[in-house]
Amino acid sequence: MNCAERYAEIRKKLPESVTLLAVSKTKPATDIMSLYDIGCRDFGENKVQELTQKYNELPKDIRWHQIGHLQTNKIKYIIPFVYMIHSIDSIKLAAEVNKQAAKHDRVVDCLLELKVANEDTKSGFDIDELKQLFSQNEFSKLNNIRLRGVMGMATNTDDRDEIRKEFLNVKAVFDYIKANYAGEVGEWFDQISMGMSGDYDIAVECGSTIVRIGSTIFGERDYTAQK
Ligand SMILES: *Cc1c(COP(=O)(O)O)cnc(C)c1O
Repeated sequence: MNCAERYAEIRKKLPESVTLLAVSKTKPATDIMSLYDIGCRDFGENKVQELTQKYNELPKDIRWHQIGHLQTNKIKYIIPFVYMIHSIDSIKLAAEVNKQAAKHDRVVDCLLELKVANEDTKSGFDIDELKQLFSQNEFSKLNNIRLRGVMGMATNTDDRDEIRKEFLNVKAVFDYIKANYAGEVGEWFDQISMGMSGDYDIAVECGSTIVRIGSTIFGERDYTAQK
């Protein structure tokens, strides 16, 4: 099977309401175009330079998602065109995205990245931090970002019960925010980005609305070819 066929296979298995975000990092424009040609419009990248380059080369109706950690000094390069930022992991980053978005007269859709995995390498908010920020109305001051929901990454493990527990935790935090801070997040807060190649089936069971899938569509990534 080629990547377009694998994409179509996964698309068929997912509920229609779930967005299949094709994670194209390290993959060439030709691979992206073969998915584009069968109707895929949502692509995810984690490096600003690569994202910007692909945006310039490829059709302008592609919805580009920034999924990886974002450095504040690089925000300005993606703000003119990025469709959604999944990796808002601090209030400082949110404020900086807001500032750059204001300069471009845009309101940018963002997800709050939650730290649910028991790995130190993963970043994100914990629930207590968010409660404090919401109760101080920190997010509603940011008029040029629109909070669309949350994003989570499970621990890299074969323990499916652990993964399920973490995804249910993401869903619980999402529900909590929606129930308690409706005035701040508004009706737009409706997205849960969770699930990758190895665990997207569990994520969908736990309420995911966006799955981010790379290697199962495009094949393993080869990082040795890069600098
Ligand atoms: C690379 C990446 C993915 C996709 O991972 P696969 O296991 O290849 O599907 C999903 N989310 C984030 C944040 C990533 O960096």
